[in-house]
Amino acid sequence: MAKRLDILVPFLNERESVAGFSTLAGELAAQARERFDLETAFIFIDDGSTDGGGALYQEHMSGDWTLITLARNFGKETAILAGLDHSQGDYVLLMDADLQHTVDVALDMIDRMMADPDLDMVYAVRADRAESRTIGRYMANGFYWLINMGQRYEIPANAGDFRVMTGRFAAALRQLRDQRRFNKGLYAWTGFKQERILYKPAERQGGESKWSRRKLIAFSLEGFTSFSVVPLRMVSLFGTGVAVLGFLYGIKILLEVLFTGVAVPGYPSLIVAILVLGGLNLALTGLVGEYVWSALSEAKSRPNYIVKSVTGPRAATPSGARARRTGKATHG
Ligand code: UDP
Ligand code: MG
Repeated sequence: MAKRLDILVPFLNERESVAGFSTLAGELAAQARERFDLETAFIFIDDGSTDGGGALYQEHMSGDWTLITLARNFGKETAILAGLDHSQGDYVLLMDADLQHTVDVALDMIDRMMADPDLDMVYAVRADRAESRTIGRYMANGFYWLINMGQRYEIPANAGDFRVMTGRFAAALRQLRDQRRFNKGLYAWTGFKQERILYKPAERQGGESKWSRRKLIAFSLEGFTSFSVVPLRMVSLFGTGVAVLGFLYGIKILLEVLFTGVAVPGYPSLIVAILVLGGLNLALTGLVGEYVWSALSEAKSRPNYIVKSVTGPRAATPSGARARRTGKATHG
């Protein structure tokens, strides 16, 4: 029997690219069958679109497809989890709906993965990002250096969400029910062997990118609070260092007054101490707050997402997938 490839496509307001995507889907399905003898099934996840794009997919798609409509925008990372929960494929491919991810690269990734039974994931890295030397890149590299400090697994820099994985990798991801999801970290955490290929993304077809700088910073913080305690430790260490220096300085002043009777010149040193320590305090409080908020989100153990409807020719999914449809964990 032919093995199955599930293709997960999370989308948010991608109306302009629906027609183009259905063409791409047809091509991909044909090629996957021809080259790898894979049956394809598309799983679209409508992540709270407000432009009626979901209905358009229903019109344009043919073959095996399912449309999962989430009750609101839960974010791409969570939308991918919703797709995984509904997937039973032997292989799973993650793809963007905006046509930036091309059939050729997808087939290359599948090819690479099938060639090596030891590989459980192949992901595509934008070639321009791997080489670029912009400030944003340096910031990103610093971020990955920090988040990977002292970890047992490494989260690769520059990796996006254009990936193909095996069924057992998908099953592992389904078990990770983090509320604040940082998929790149989760992929690395599973420990399965991954490999990357370089690619050049196509131009976006209509619509606009949903990633602003502000969102990227918020997302980085989520990465930290769910994968690293290094920032907390660094601030603690720095705080201890400053306290020790302050203590030594205090002793010096005391000795000066005792033995030379020099009146200590006051304001500048005072102001410096107040500003440095006050600023540090505020920053650390904020950082601790991030971790507390993260802990609180997990403690509430709400479902990861809420499904409004599931439609498509294959919508009557087997009971296993149905139990998971609310996003509740089936394991512990
Ligand atoms: N997306 C989503 N939910 C969101 C934001 C984005 O499902 O909250 C989808 C979006 O429709 C697209 C994919 O995720 O299919 C990648 O988003 P985008 O193209 O904005 O990111 P970029 O390619 O600029 O990194
Ligand atoms: Mg895009």
